[in-house]
Amino acid sequence: MGKKTAIIAEHHNGEISTVTYELLALAKGIQESEAGDICFFILGADTEKPAQTLSTRTGEPVHAVCIPGLAQYNGALYKKALSALFSRTPFDYILAPHSSSGMDYAPALSMALGGSCITGVKDVVRTDGALCFVRSLFGGKLSAKLTTDTGPLVLTLQPGALKAFSPEGKSQGPNQVSNQGTIERSVLDITDDNMVYAGTKASPSEGSDLARADVIVSGGRGIRDAQNYNHIEMLARLFPRSATGGSRPICDYKWIPYSKQVGITGTTVSPKLYIACGISGAPQHVEGMKNAGFIVAVNTDPDAPVFQIADVCIVEDLMEFIPFFIETFKQKRRKKDERNDLGESFLA
Ligand SMILES: Cc1cc2nc3c(=O)[nH]c(=O)nc-3n(C[C@H](O)[C@H](O)[C@H](O)COP(=O)(O)OP(=O)(O)OC[C@H]3O[C@@H](n4cnc5c(N)ncnc54)[C@H](O)[C@@H]3O)c2cc1C
Repeated sequence: MGKKTAIIAEHHNGEISTVTYELLALAKGIQESEAGDICFFILGADTEKPAQTLSTRTGEPVHAVCIPGLAQYNGALYKKALSALFSRTPFDYILAPHSSSGMDYAPALSMALGGSCITGVKDVVRTDGALCFVRSLFGGKLSAKLTTDTGPLVLTLQPGALKAFSPEGKSQGPNQVSNQGTIERSVLDITDDNMVYAGTKASPSEGSDLARADVIVSGGRGIRDAQNYNHIEMLARLFPRSATGGSRPICDYKWIPYSKQVGITGTTVSPKLYIACGISGAPQHVEGMKNAGFIVAVNTDPDAPVFQIADVCIVEDLMEFIPFFIETFKQKRRKKDERNDLGESFLA
């Protein structure tokens, strides 16, 4: 019999978070080495819609656990519910996101089950016959491969570290697999008075779309002043599906909100293109963006560490380079549009 993997789905307002599909990619990675079943667990007061989405988009079985008092995330209820579920039905691997909620319940869950816990996992590899989970140490300066004999193993996956599962080849329509997974429904009547949901306050920032963006333009301390972040925003506007980000110091200075911070203590991103402007390339930042498809760095210092991982290195003052680049880009686009207009009038 193979090893069994459970995935705890993360969902907000009825929508499944992208990291849940990244967890499936990790589960498939485990499955390549140790064949076995995968099952999603989804907890909440109303899990019907997200459970349907998961089963349609992945084809994997889903266990939807209705907990009437769990309209919003509650760590105490999650810990109680998950301990009860996995004590009754043991799993070898239990995967959770390395999000504020996953980080909260995962270690407690492993304690309750008498197992092990590895947090902030980025990948799974097989080394000397053992299945190892890769995670960063010392702010990204070292990469460790960790394994354990004490199960069950509870893992949290760093968001953005793996490419989210998508049903390639089996598609019936957009984002659908041909065979829907089964949905098992149950009700768990548990309460906890120690932790009470007090409400949600929306971040004053405009929503950060770092995780979904194809192109991210980030600014660092090299922008020198909060107002100069408009250079970063103007550059980002040239690209469709783009977002703006930044390094930690400029979040600490309150030039941009923390929701835009890229790095080990911010968001891990993997866009097609990452443009780092005035960012030195400290390991804590690089760790969060090194999986981008293509990296461009703009820095006045030719020895800046960011150039070691950049595909294109631009040794320039960003305050001069960005306006010049935008103007040149617009001129070229105008010329292209004029040529197209000319071509159309010629054909007409
Ligand atoms: C526990 C811990 C966690 C951390 N987590 C994170 C994290 O998640 N994300 C993160 O980003 N950092 C994080 N840090 C901070 C990190 O160590 C670095 O201090 C930070 O990334 C540096 O930010 P920076 O590159 O913007 O600034 P700096 O290191 O000061 O670099 C500024 C760069 O701008 C260049 N520059 C200056 N003027 C110009 C100009 N006009 N044009 C072009 N280039 C110019 C300079 O040459 C320099 O390379 C963390 C630190 C710790 C200890």
